[in-house]
Amino acid sequence: MCGVVGIYSNKNISKELYYSLYSMQHRGQESCGMAIVDGKHINYRKDMGLVGDVFKEEELSKLEGNMGIGHVRYSTAGGSHLANCQPLVGSCRKREIALAHNGNLVNANYLRDMLEEDGYMFQANSDTEVILYILARYYKGDIIESLKMTMDYIKGAYSLVIMSEDELVGVRDPHGFRPLKLGKKDDEFIFASEDCAIDILGGEVIRDVEPGEIIVIKNGEMKSYFYSENYKEVKKSCIFEHIYFARNDANIDNVNVYDFRIKCGEILAKNDDIKADIVVPVPDSGWAGAIGYSNESKLPISEGLVKNRYVGRTFIKPTQEEREMGVKIKLNPLTSVVKGKSVVLVDDSVVRGTTSKLIIQSLREAGASEIHLRITSPPVKFSCYYGIDTPNRSKLIASQNSLEEIREYIGCDTLEFLDIDGMIEATQGKSTFCKACFDGNYPVKKIDKEELLSC
Ligand code: AMP
Repeated sequence: MCGVVGIYSNKNISKELYYSLYSMQHRGQESCGMAIVDGKHINYRKDMGLVGDVFKEEELSKLEGNMGIGHVRYSTAGGSHLANCQPLVGSCRKREIALAHNGNLVNANYLRDMLEEDGYMFQANSDTEVILYILARYYKGDIIESLKMTMDYIKGAYSLVIMSEDELVGVRDPHGFRPLKLGKKDDEFIFASEDCAIDILGGEVIRDVEPGEIIVIKNGEMKSYFYSENYKEVKKSCIFEHIYFARNDANIDNVNVYDFRIKCGEILAKNDDIKADIVVPVPDSGWAGAIGYSNESKLPISEGLVKNRYVGRTFIKPTQEEREMGVKIKLNPLTSVVKGKSVVLVDDSVVRGTTSKLIIQSLREAGASEIHLRITSPPVKFSCYYGIDTPNRSKLIASQNSLEEIREYIGCDTLEFLDIDGMIEATQGKSTFCKACFDGNYPVKKIDKEELLSC
């Protein structure tokens, strides 16, 4: 999962790119980068680490220019190392091109083999490099035409910001899996994965880039094109963005993320008749759902867990041991709040079950008399191919176990999940979604090499 931003302006924008990336740090904490046109050439800096660590004042002052793109990364395809940091920058037919990508292709391996047979030499192993090379392969001076050709080849999830020396382009795949917003501030155009990256600049969010849409900003003007006039897929906005990934202040495809999360909690509570003393959110991602649960159940909400603000997303840690330690460092119970209380503990999702198990252990140690875990999304049963970092299916606790087995493993007194209908009800009919992680209905099939070669 990643965050992208692109800014077209008539003034120096390195600081603006920096602030936008900073606001989207939650979308990726492994590496970050920005590429800026200085009038003639694309200069860039990227490195492993957080935005505030990679871009010090000195680096920013070296990166001056009126147009640029940026990226924060949290690897889902391709390893976590410098060669996979974005934006990727290359040159072709005497033009320089920079590209930043959020999403995952489902046919990257096949395309990579095809390109390697054509003599392309890869420097890294992310699917983004595949996109760049296909784009370069068909680039004959017109970025729209080469993009349309590229979109014929690449399958899966991609929200892209692309830049040449004189144009900025925002692209969303034909299903619109990953978000991409268009914003404006005076004469400036902004593309960003989430509203916060536009808000922070004092800009106005204009709209979502549509599925299959290519928006080009050149000579101060914006033009919109579609991948194909006769090809319109049903929008498949990723529901997990709304559940967990995006910030509460995001609006994705007409759905306000905060409202959605509150509604999920309310709907879950509506069908629940548990008797308890307090509702305790798992910070931070459980808060909105817990507020909804408390509104509906009329149980008071209390801060029963204290979060260490200097710890990032523990889910991302590579080993189970590190993840467990990460949860302990991150969350500690407030004994004075939970001791002797029957607690409804609310979190947004259960993936492996590690987080909930450890939190419940610590709440029991702090003296909670009963713990009723309520999850404001359905059980995650299937891996995501489109860019959410869910582990292999065998590691998803709900893919192998019944509700009772999960409850037993996690160690709570009772356990309930929001069901798929309830989750969709919470979106109030405002969009259509990919919910493959819950129901296994993948809008785009993962393509194996063998399968394609035999076509
Ligand atoms: P787990 O311990 O594997 O059950 O992880 C579930 C917790 O991680 C929940 O509290 C979520 O808030 C969070 N989470 C869920 N999905 C992701 C993800 N793809 N990346 C990072 N964190 C996640």
